[in-house]
Amino acid sequence: MFLLRKPILALSGNGAVRDAVTRTPITRSVVDRFIPGETSADAVRAVVQLRSAGMQVTLDHLGEDTTDRTTADATVEAYLELVQALTAAGRVAGAELSVKLSAVGQALLASPDLPAGGNAYALAGARKITDAAYAAGARVNLDIEDHTTIDQTLEVLFELRRTHPDVGIAIQAMLLRTAKDLAELTGPGSRVRLVKGAYNEPADVAYTDPAQIDLAYVRAMKFLMHGKGYPMIASHDPRMVAIADRLASDAGRTPDRWEHQMLYGIRPEEQRRLVAAGKTMRVYVPYGSDWYGYFTRRLAERPANLLFFLRSLATKG
Ligand SMILES: Cc1cc2nc3c(=O)[nH]c(=O)nc-3n(C[C@H](O)[C@H](O)[C@H](O)COP(=O)(O)OP(=O)(O)OC[C@H]3O[C@@H](n4cnc5c(N)ncnc54)[C@H](O)[C@@H]3O)c2cc1C
Repeated sequence: MFLLRKPILALSGNGAVRDAVTRTPITRSVVDRFIPGETSADAVRAVVQLRSAGMQVTLDHLGEDTTDRTTADATVEAYLELVQALTAAGRVAGAELSVKLSAVGQALLASPDLPAGGNAYALAGARKITDAAYAAGARVNLDIEDHTTIDQTLEVLFELRRTHPDVGIAIQAMLLRTAKDLAELTGPGSRVRLVKGAYNEPADVAYTDPAQIDLAYVRAMKFLMHGKGYPMIASHDPRMVAIADRLASDAGRTPDRWEHQMLYGIRPEEQRRLVAAGKTMRVYVPYGSDWYGYFTRRLAERPANLLFFLRSLATKG
């Protein structure tokens, strides 16, 4: 894995760096490569384009680490507006919404008027989004964030699944706890998005060696492919993509019983190749104005992304 990953992820938490990056006009043109726009209309436009290319979509209203209720409530409203916009465009059926619980209040501290704390607040918000999505014909998947939030996120998942059993969850192969979590998530209909993990995790909870992360990813894929759930293999790594195809065919899974997932703007030609090969391909479409955290994780993942960004600064600045 890219050597600058940890320093970039660590720097991304620095307020001065954040201000400098977000205020530079050039940043915007680079951001556009990964994010189709700020409004639900921009998101719907991207959905129309991807669906006409034979791809499925999962939409993320950007935002995370919300520390006030107003912002958390606004995020819930943004998702409700998105469901309406997708419905009006005739694109809601089969769409999926990706929700980060930290964007809908998970990190709010317990207080006298919020005695149950942030997780209960996040559950209430996620429930509103989920009820609206399923009523309209869409689905919901919970994104997974840093390791300190996972127990709470799984609690919310199991609550939501009481009413909507196929709400999905992302699981990070890099975490040491993952095998145990997956054992509880491979039941019939369980939708699990397997990712390598995008956060800066310490060695006592996660594999930090890329080779070990890859091995853990393959073990988890095998487990999911032979389980009773619906595996969603979210990786741009050509080796993981190829191994997923082989494991699916060994397990007798046809393309309607599992899927590939990739991020908007990353390896688009590979996304088209997989569709042409008859695979199910779902693209994660982030939109909104709070793009900084998402953007820096993409820079941290790959030297070419960082070089592209630095080159834009150098040539246009
Ligand atoms: C749909 C989706 C949803 C996600 N949701 C979450 C989540 O909820 N929580 C979370 O922690 N993480 C999430 N992630 C991010 C994930 O954890 C990884 O950080 C990210 O996907 C990078 O890992 P990778 O498996 O794609 O490949 P990497 O290990 O980053 O790259 C491996 C190889 O893939 C190829 N590659 C990668 N990027 C490119 C590129 N731009 N162009 C060409 N080749 C490339 C290169 O050969 C590279 O060497 C998500 C990822 C996807 C695709």
